[in-house]
Amino acid sequence: MKRIMLIATGGTIASGYTEDGLAPKFKAAELLEYVEEYREFCSVEVLQPFNLDSTNVCGKHWLELAAIIEKHYEEFDGFVICHGTDTMAFTAAALSYLVQNSTRPIIITGSQKPINLPVTDARTNLLDSLRFASEPKAHGVNIVFGGNVIAGTRAKKERSKSYNAFSSINYPSVAVIRDGRIVFYIDDKEKAEEKVLFYHRLNQRVLLLKLVPGMDGSILDRLFDCYDGVIIEAFGVGGFPEYGTIPFYQEIRRWTDAGKIVMLATQVTHEGSDMELYQVGKAIKEDFNLMEAYDMTLEATVTKTMWAMGLASDAEEFRRLFYRTVNHDILLTPEE
Ligand code: ASP
Repeated sequence: MKRIMLIATGGTIASGYTEDGLAPKFKAAELLEYVEEYREFCSVEVLQPFNLDSTNVCGKHWLELAAIIEKHYEEFDGFVICHGTDTMAFTAAALSYLVQNSTRPIIITGSQKPINLPVTDARTNLLDSLRFASEPKAHGVNIVFGGNVIAGTRAKKERSKSYNAFSSINYPSVAVIRDGRIVFYIDDKEKAEEKVLFYHRLNQRVLLLKLVPGMDGSILDRLFDCYDGVIIEAFGVGGFPEYGTIPFYQEIRRWTDAGKIVMLATQVTHEGSDMELYQVGKAIKEDFNLMEAYDMTLEATVTKTMWAMGLASDAEEFRRLFYRTVNHDILLTPEE
């Protein structure tokens, strides 16, 4: 029988109605009471590091979760983290960078409805997660939600209310789970022969800036002291505006000269960036040797930047770390 650690952190799955709106209430052991069938295939120990709406979950919690997994790694065959859905994709991506090459499955799940309601997705999602965490072929960081298993770096919350809230972006689902049966689309555990690696540092001074038509580039001047890196969500495959007043150009020069990271990404969810396709992206990319996120999700781009900035001592090292594939996060890299 597999030994699983259930780490409950809050979210809708654990929430109850209060006069002020839904708020986390149920503890890890109470969640388990709703999915007694798990006893047929695993034993579970619980841990409750915090009980928050995931709106309030950030970098220090990602580091805390990674530290819990590191501490208990040898004691358990798999880990299931119950988490709010709103920032789940960030947590899943961050854990993908903080815990790499894990042969043990690290599953993140939650739900759109609280677990104590008569009609809810919570019980299916939690039971599916415990089942997947007990599956010998499962490994690494994944989200299990709505019958889909999504690589931790590829998930995005695309629906705010439906049960199929998460999509796998620019990459297939790792597996699907239907009526308790797991079907793998990506069955690559045998290739995962490297040793598990735990990281303990993130540089959280990373800004995600979404361009809107007419935006004044001098915004980057005001943000200069607050951030060490900026990811700019450009238009389409990577169009970058030049409105004649040149502050964007000037500011990007200032940021890159100061050794800060400037990364370009697309604000389009699917299919990724290709800045060199149009003159409006190619020029700025070439002038400043800018990096772009290609087919990565924004959540993965942000958290990978935090992770790589926490490790790298210069721009070259950052580039090397950033373009190394981790947990299926990037397919199109500049080398290809
Ligand atoms: N606000 C909730 C959270 O992210 C939403 C959810 O869990 O579905 O914690």
